[in-house]
Parts: sequence; C-alpha cells; structure tokens
Amino acid sequence: MAMATPERSPDQAGVEEAVRTLLAWMGDDPERKGLRGTPGRVARALAELSSGYRDDPAALLSVDLEEAVERQLVVVRGITFHSLCEHHLLPFFGWAAIAYLPDGHLAGLSKLARVVAAHARRLQVQERLTEEVAATLDRGLRPRGLAVALTAEHLCLSMRGAARPGHSTVTVATRGELAKDPSAREEALRLMAGARP
Ligand SMILES: [Zn+2]
Repeated sequence: MAMATPERSPDQAGVEEAVRTLLAWMGDDPERKGLRGTPGRVARALAELSSGYRDDPAALLSVDLEEAVERQLVVVRGITFHSLCEHHLLPFFGWAAIAYLPDGHLAGLSKLARVVAAHARRLQVQERLTEEVAATLDRGLRPRGLAVALTAEHLCLSMRGAARPGHSTVTVATRGELAKDPSAREEALRLMAGARP
C-alpha cells in the first residue's frame, strides 16, 4: 500500500537528546552509568518498531503466490504481532487470525505473518491495523471472501489509568462473501476464535 513515509528527521542525535530530556523529566539522571547508553538503545528500538513505514506490505504478496487447489475456507490462527499505540507510544500485542475463501491464490503462514508485521510496526490503533491488513490481503490475494480478527492487550490500558491487566480487545474486518453472507461469516469467526496459539 502506498502510504506517506514520514521524514526521518530529526536525526539520531536529536532523538537521543529527546530521550535524555524524557529521562530527566521522569525524575532520573540521564548521566548516571546505567542510563548512559539508554538514549541510543531507545532510538534503535523505536527504529525497529517503526520499520513498517519502510515496508511495502502489498509487495510481500505480489510474488510467489501458489495456485489454490482447494476453493474451501482457509483459516490461519495464532499469528503473533506487536505494535505501538499512536495515543501513548505504548505496546499493544496479541494474535491475528485470518480466514479467506481462495479464488486462485494461496499465501503461506510466513507471508501472512509478514503482512501483519509490516502494518503492525508503525504507530497504530487496533481498528485501523485490522482494516489495513484486510485491505492488503484483499488486494494481494483477491479472495472471494476474507476475515481478519485481531486479539490484543494494550499496555496503555493494563499499566495506567483504570489499569485492566489481562484484558483483551478483539477487532474484526471482513470483505466479500465473508462480509455479505451471515452464515459464512459466522462459521469463519467460529473457526478463527481461540486465536491464541
Ligand atoms: Zn494507547
């Protein structure tokens, strides 16, 4: 999917300076021994967690599609993902389940997992992440029907505010026959449930 790629400015030194400011603001001493390497580590970790901005998820599906022998529902569960919520820059993470009615094309587990990761490694909200994964798979696989369900725990809910550790949020996006046909949709969601590996 063509998405705006944010300018990576300021540079790494600017990011490290910002992290030192945060550390001091939190009440610690950025110059103490244990924290001296932290700004560089934070910058590298955030670069990795936002690497999806430099990926083209659609390209991940554009090669090497296998011809589908079956035209029956394919369900893949337990695809783990990690993302950062755009409201608090705190992680949310969990499992994706994908169901689709193939129409000529199949994608293996690793391809599906890479598509989910490419969208997850950006600043996200869970609902948009679900829709973006569905849109990429819909375009890349052109299935007759598609359903994507994400089950996630958000650390901004678990660690702060009303603190609800262990909660989970489920979001679903559907396309084609799995959006239009209520009984097909129900069967797919039943098979996708229990997305935990
Ligand atoms: Zn949040």
